[in-house]
Amino acid sequence: MSEQSMSGSNGRPSFVVLGGGPAGLGAAYKLAQRGWRDVTVLERGSRVGGNAGSFVIDGVPVDFGSHRLHPACPPPVMADIRTLLGEDLLDRPRHGRIRLRGRWVHFPLKPFDLFTRLPPAFMAGVVADAARKRLATGRNGGEESFASILEQGLGRTICRDFYFPYAQKIWGLPPTALDPEQAKRRVSNGSLGKMVRRVLGAIPGFRKPGAGRFFYPKQGFGQISDAFHRAAVASGATVILDARVTAVHVSNRRVSGVDAVIAGETRSFPATHVLSTIPLTVLTTLVRSEGQPPVTTAPLQQRSMVLVYLTLDTDRFTEFDAHYFPEAVIRITRLSEPKNYSQTTRPGRTVLCAELPCALGGTEWTMSDAELSALVCQDLERAGLGPVPTVLAVQAQRLPHAYPLYTKGYRQAFDALDTWVGGIEGLVTFGRQGLFAHDNTHHTLGMAYALVHCLREDGSLDRGCWTEARKGFETHVVED
Ligand SMILES: Cc1cc2nc3c(=O)[nH]c(=O)nc-3n(C[C@H](O)[C@H](O)[C@H](O)COP(=O)(O)OP(=O)(O)OC[C@H]3O[C@@H](n4cnc5c(N)ncnc54)[C@H](O)[C@@H]3O)c2cc1C
Repeated sequence: MSEQSMSGSNGRPSFVVLGGGPAGLGAAYKLAQRGWRDVTVLERGSRVGGNAGSFVIDGVPVDFGSHRLHPACPPPVMADIRTLLGEDLLDRPRHGRIRLRGRWVHFPLKPFDLFTRLPPAFMAGVVADAARKRLATGRNGGEESFASILEQGLGRTICRDFYFPYAQKIWGLPPTALDPEQAKRRVSNGSLGKMVRRVLGAIPGFRKPGAGRFFYPKQGFGQISDAFHRAAVASGATVILDARVTAVHVSNRRVSGVDAVIAGETRSFPATHVLSTIPLTVLTTLVRSEGQPPVTTAPLQQRSMVLVYLTLDTDRFTEFDAHYFPEAVIRITRLSEPKNYSQTTRPGRTVLCAELPCALGGTEWTMSDAELSALVCQDLERAGLGPVPTVLAVQAQRLPHAYPLYTKGYRQAFDALDTWVGGIEGLVTFGRQGLFAHDNTHHTLGMAYALVHCLREDGSLDRGCWTEARKGFETHVVED
């Protein structure tokens, strides 16, 4: 279906962007750069950045979980980030650790480290799995799942000791209950061949540009969104914070505007185009439509996360940027120490951020700060990282939409919502929440750039262009 030309009462297109995370801000910046003057971003929070934002605890900038900008960032996005951040964009070596069978292994994996630190039984298991040749043939027979795909690609040993317990903690479901898509999109080392190439990539001479490194802004990952915010406003866009979108109006299958609650009052924003980055499931409940039948489908599920920040009475807890905990006995999945890579100078203090995936409203979600602090300290001691220095303060942040949950058959539910939204002219969804994609920030900024590129001069969407762009998004693989 080709979208008809649309313009507001003044004959010009008007855009309302829902959500001020990186995707929404990136889109606003590009829209304003293309010369459109009527561009408004509505953001529910009191700061921009969404899940990729930052805030400061006791002089130390922290993020919503461990965030880094991966060198795989699309070149046009990277060029803008470099221009916007200048010298504030640090190029850092990756220096993490994974706990496997009670031992620490460097992450990203390094050949020498793997051979000297991994238990011989583990290495023997991996080699035996490779030799068994069941890896390439996919003889598992039964229905495909996250578990079967990974086991075919990586063998039993790596799955049993690393991916399966980790997956169970992250998504709260047995790996056999997860759609194969989860393995394709979420696991960048999905086969032994890829894993070997990655490991070899750590050796000088084999190393690809950017391997083992990441970019990080001096004042926290959220500085990227802050920079897009400033650039969008400087280019003529309006960004309104503390503006919770409560309705998207549709008349004769065409979007006509948005309502948002700002300072307790409902305000209306007429618009010819609504570009949405808010969760797709939320958006579908907000559409107030004449002539559009309501959507009926099983809801898509999200995994939530509690982030526990411990302020410690010490300069540094460890030298590492992040620790990964696949073992089931430890409840947190990752611990980061942003001071180690943001170059914050805050003498006598550091802040740890522990990631605790959970169900919305579940046991961990409702724990008090004191309970969460005790849980994290206990986990760190179990991992051999104790005793934890004096905890001066604890603070928790809760992300209701941390990870899209690709349960088996999720695709049908997604396609139903996506088709329904696609039937409303002037309404487009994109970004991590909008496309229910487990994507990195550079992917979501890439989506924003692609979307604005696919708009015609009159603001209407070239659907062929957008369909092609979306096919490209399907190939995104998440980097940790
Ligand atoms: C624990 C964790 C670690 C991660 N690590 C990395 C990493 O290392 N590198 C990386 O590149 N990416 C990482 N990511 C992913 C990254 O956070 C996302 O890719 C990025 O936030 C997606 O941006 P977005 O704009 O699409 O969505 P979001 O950041 O989710 O933004 C959506 C925005 O919509 C707003 N909103 C929602 N409802 C409404 C409403 N009704 N009205 C108005 N506004 C609304 C929200 O407040 C939010 O600001 C990580 C994510 C998590 C959870």
